[in-house]
Amino acid sequence: MKRVWNTPLWIIWALLCVACTTQPLPQPTPNKPDTEQGGSSTDTEQGGSGSSTDTEQDGDVDESKESYVVILSMDAFRYDLADMYDTPTLDSIARVGVYSEIMPCFPSNTFPNHYSMATGLHPDHHGIVNNTFFDETTYKTYSISDDDAKADANFYKGEPIWNTVERQGLTAHIYGWVGIDANINNRKPTVAMSYDYRLSQRQLADKVIDAMCQENVEDIPNLVMWYFDEPDAVEHDYSPTSDQTRRVVEEIDDVLAYFMREMRNSPVFEDINFIFTSDHGMVELHPDKYFNIYSLIPNKIQYYYNSNPVTLKPYDLAETKAIYNTLKAHEEEGHYRVWLREDMPEELHYGTYTTRIYPIVLLADTGWKVVYNKNANSGRPTAKYSNHGYNPYDREMHMVFYGCGPAFKRGYTHNKVFQNLNDHLIISHILGIDPATPNDCTWEDIEGLFVTE
Ligand SMILES: [Zn+2]
Repeated sequence: MKRVWNTPLWIIWALLCVACTTQPLPQPTPNKPDTEQGGSSTDTEQGGSGSSTDTEQDGDVDESKESYVVILSMDAFRYDLADMYDTPTLDSIARVGVYSEIMPCFPSNTFPNHYSMATGLHPDHHGIVNNTFFDETTYKTYSISDDDAKADANFYKGEPIWNTVERQGLTAHIYGWVGIDANINNRKPTVAMSYDYRLSQRQLADKVIDAMCQENVEDIPNLVMWYFDEPDAVEHDYSPTSDQTRRVVEEIDDVLAYFMREMRNSPVFEDINFIFTSDHGMVELHPDKYFNIYSLIPNKIQYYYNSNPVTLKPYDLAETKAIYNTLKAHEEEGHYRVWLREDMPEELHYGTYTTRIYPIVLLADTGWKVVYNKNANSGRPTAKYSNHGYNPYDREMHMVFYGCGPAFKRGYTHNKVFQNLNDHLIISHILGIDPATPNDCTWEDIEGLFVTE
């Protein structure tokens, strides 16, 4: 793996970070002109979906050195939270590394997106099509609250990055990431810890610190993935703009300050690339922004999910088109879009997993709640209640990507809102391994994040 910045600057940054300085660091002298977007030196390295990632290039680089990636997902860390609140640690990471606003995959919910970040695939391609779904071939339900389902490898398609990494001879420690409970493709990484809500963020940080600060460098994993369930929970209850969310976001930043301070004790600190990112954004709902479709199609639906999106399976499949037409006629009034499963817009990449997605898919406008329920007011949102799962292209669903370390540019703000499934390719590129094939990643969307020679 190439290295184009010198170690002393990195160490200096670490010391400055501890002091929470607001002083930007001097930029390293690039070995070659900065190519940023569409640069020439890496054009032939990767070609997007399914391509290999030969990151080695000509020049005097120390190829014997190991590379490391430590990636944290902070659930529902919306793109603007760090601007609204006091986050000196994240701000300092942006100053010495890269920042990008990014977007989720559809549906913009936790489980589909974390598994997209791991596999580089859209939910329609990796099988975790929502937080809850029914598989018509196995007659099993997947649910985020069902431990047996979460551990059932049959639900998970594609190859999560921890398997990609270990299959190519590197090591991975995974702490609480979606998919880690299952023996996907009959394997698990070196450390595979289930999500444990009892652990504090500080305790989780200590696990990563312990892994990365081991005296024996041979035991240090090349990849660590870890997960915070906040600020999602507090935002759901109080909205992203509440004092409660402010407190939680600022507490997270404090934990990250502690984390980065302790990580300086790692013998490989200068070779670690840190990523702080998220799965989706969040939007505040309103009690009046509510529409119940039940009266339009009473007693017509056998199975349904009242989430984002709402999905419907008619009792009589021959009536599917007629039911769709009825719902379609009320799109404007109900503040939603409705599609037949096979006619979903291409940019949502959804609807081909026909044994897991019901025939009619209805997506409420961002900020609206649409339900199918006999009870006229069932599911009406309370004031301040907030949610996600909406159109990934709407900005409220966007979130953050911070990266720092030897692979990333310094003080660089990326001008391309890329999808989080590209994390798979980002990690593969930094570690110098081939990404899983096939994948839905797009190298051109992320190329500008990295230093070039
Ligand atoms: Zn989430």
